Amino acid sequence: MRFFQHPNELNIMKLNKKLPIFLLITTIVIILSAFSLFSKNITKTQISSQDSIQDETSAAFLENDGPYLFVNEDELTATGYWVCQGEVKKDVVPLTNFPITLNYCGLPAEIVSANVKEDKTIEYSGDFKVAAVSDFHGQYRLMKSLLQNNKIIDQQGKWSFADGHLVITGDVFDRGDKVTEILWFLYKLEQQALQAGGQLHLLLGNHEVMVLNGKLRYLNPKYIEVAKRLNMPFEQLFSKNSILGNWLRSKPVLVKVNNNLFAHGGFHPSLAEDNHSLEAVNTVFKANLIKAELDQPRQGWGKYLHKSNGPIWYRGYFKDGDEGANSQEIDSLLKHFDINHIIVGHTSQKQIETRYQGRVIAIDSSIKKGEYGEILFIESAKNKDDVIWRGTLDGKKLSLI
Ligand code: ZN
Repeated sequence: MRFFQHPNELNIMKLNKKLPIFLLITTIVIILSAFSLFSKNITKTQISSQDSIQDETSAAFLENDGPYLFVNEDELTATGYWVCQGEVKKDVVPLTNFPITLNYCGLPAEIVSANVKEDKTIEYSGDFKVAAVSDFHGQYRLMKSLLQNNKIIDQQGKWSFADGHLVITGDVFDRGDKVTEILWFLYKLEQQALQAGGQLHLLLGNHEVMVLNGKLRYLNPKYIEVAKRLNMPFEQLFSKNSILGNWLRSKPVLVKVNNNLFAHGGFHPSLAEDNHSLEAVNTVFKANLIKAELDQPRQGWGKYLHKSNGPIWYRGYFKDGDEGANSQEIDSLLKHFDINHIIVGHTSQKQIETRYQGRVIAIDSSIKKGEYGEILFIESAKNKDDVIWRGTLDGKKLSLI
């Protein structure tokens, strides 16, 4: 009993006369401590008691997940939730002295700000290397191996791509069971890249937009159980006032880096025909991002951009006939956006592949299967052709096919 360990209390014990008084004080202290512990854990207790009425199958759920951090109204604290060995843990985190490093239950997270502002810059140019990878779908370990073996990160998982730009063309969410780990990892890597003079561009894919809109049919079963345990709809874990939800809302749907244009699905030829700018595509897409947060339903072009011909769903580079884009249409897109390559994920290939004689590069290398993946590299120099290669999972350089 820790109450007997204090030297003064040991002295009291030696004085037999004072023993009853000591016992009385000890009893009061125990009662008061028990009461204070109970009131501190009242939320946990409420959540735990919900657990106990869950069905028997979820009783064996021993997963770790989180943290899900929600900025409180005063913006001085955040309430964090973890699922640790299947049990809900809750804590209040003071939002002072950024970055705030948390590591609970083997789940590292580093908060850099209570509220990330949207950076609307979508075009970058310079004499730096560019790398691009797509569709992680919860495959955290495979993602780390791929980035490590291709020297984007070092053995400690820190940015080692110097002033390079890494583009991730969406679909971090769904299918796999390490989505939260990837999100916190990229959130931190983005800061490290900036500090090194480089940049990480995370683009929104259809699975980010689906989850933010509460369309959860591709969720890994782990997250269905996590949401149940936290007693919140899964999409609420990424609400506006959550650190990760706010960060995801700040992300664009496309980016142009040097002569390369990136999006998750692709760019329909009508964007060139109708003379739309990249800025307009991104702004209108973002203005219609989450249905539940809109004043009125999506309509017109905003609705079109969120449907099958929009930048997160389009598959026209991989289809024949009327549904596909023809060679002239690809040329007019390249001319209109002043680019040499369109680079997309979303439509899975065995490895990085090209279409239209290399004008379109398909970088969804089926990482979702958890077995293999590739990363694209582009080196541009003035008045010279781009040097492009694919990095394999074990870090070999291979030519494009
Ligand atoms: Zn996709």
